[in-house]
Amino acid sequence: MEEKQYRFETEAIHAGYQSEEHQGSLVPPLYQTSTFSFPSAEQGENRFAGLEAGYVYTRLGNPTVKILEERMAALEKGEAALAFSSGMAAVSAVLMSLTKTGDHILCSKGVYGCTFGLLQLLKKKYEIDHDFSLMKDTQAIEEQIRPNTTCIYIETPINPTMQLVDLEMVAQIANEKGIPVVVDNTFCSPYLQTPLTLGCEVVIHSATKYICGHGDVIAGLVIGKKEFIHNVSRTTQKDIGGTMSPFDAWLLLRGLKTLPIRMDRHCENTEKLFEFLKNHPKIEQIYFPGDPSHPDYFIMKKQMMQPSGLLSFTIKGTKKTAQMFMNQLKLIKLAVSLGDAETLIQHPASMTHAVIPKQEREKMGIDDSLLRLSVGLEAWEDIAEDLEQALHNI
Ligand SMILES: *Cc1c(COP(=O)(O)O)cnc(C)c1O
Repeated sequence: MEEKQYRFETEAIHAGYQSEEHQGSLVPPLYQTSTFSFPSAEQGENRFAGLEAGYVYTRLGNPTVKILEERMAALEKGEAALAFSSGMAAVSAVLMSLTKTGDHILCSKGVYGCTFGLLQLLKKKYEIDHDFSLMKDTQAIEEQIRPNTTCIYIETPINPTMQLVDLEMVAQIANEKGIPVVVDNTFCSPYLQTPLTLGCEVVIHSATKYICGHGDVIAGLVIGKKEFIHNVSRTTQKDIGGTMSPFDAWLLLRGLKTLPIRMDRHCENTEKLFEFLKNHPKIEQIYFPGDPSHPDYFIMKKQMMQPSGLLSFTIKGTKKTAQMFMNQLKLIKLAVSLGDAETLIQHPASMTHAVIPKQEREKMGIDDSLLRLSVGLEAWEDIAEDLEQALHNI
């Protein structure tokens, strides 16, 4: 059946769901069940053999989860998607499906703390090696690709320093060599950046963040080609078992409906706060890809619709000054995570990136006085006033 392709805002509300198949229920029903009964023993046999469509057991597939997967595939412009119990379940399932002992992963310089931890584990336990790369120019990337490189793994913007990687440039080199490029698109959501349209092979999300948007779910998603997704679903997802709960899928379908309008407001508020902070006498440095003097501003213009809702900054002073500042905040919550309605602030050196040795951290540009702000949906003036009073009191 040929389905009409709607615009992003419409797909975020409708893709993957036909109410007429569900008694007309406007909202996708929640199939809160662990298992599915078979009409007959023979049909049960056929479902297990893959000869007949139909559900078997929720770890292998669930109708509510399926709707979410189809919606996300549509939004990321991919063929298929797979839902996981967390972003890290998604990252680990993908990396383990693309590598075996003796292989090599080329990784952007600066990744999510637990992704860094997973790379260490793969190296220590399974001898799967990795290198970090700034990925700034073609020649340097080509030199870092080895004969045994089976995966290029990228986060852009890079957490928390907000450097960007030119996805089209890297995908071009990788595609010539037949190496899949995997992109963690958590910081952008498909509303701002669609790596698959730039030649990348796989997209990963921590759906905990912007996809959910309401801070009440831990979840992950993977989007890519049908064959790849099928392969992961039959191996590193099914047998390791990090599948998404139907209720979480239901909440994410609810969150996704407002993704475009939430992202617009996150971005608008962040631009305003950037303007407010950039000339503040107590701010040392500010990292925001929407800053026209940011070295990667041209990449932002090229591959992102807007510079997203995160910015990092350093306060003049030491780690103590940064912590004093955080303790003065009244409206802004001290918490990791991002993409929620509430504005959140965290101290990467002692929180999300504390597992990374100090020396490595500093090489990634994570200074002891660096703070990362996830700008929420409150009135930007109230967020600015909270920052102002806290800066005033240090
Ligand atoms: C949060 C996050 C993850 C991990 O996701 P969880 O849902 O917490 O497991 C991975 N990558 C990025 C960029 C993240 O922000």
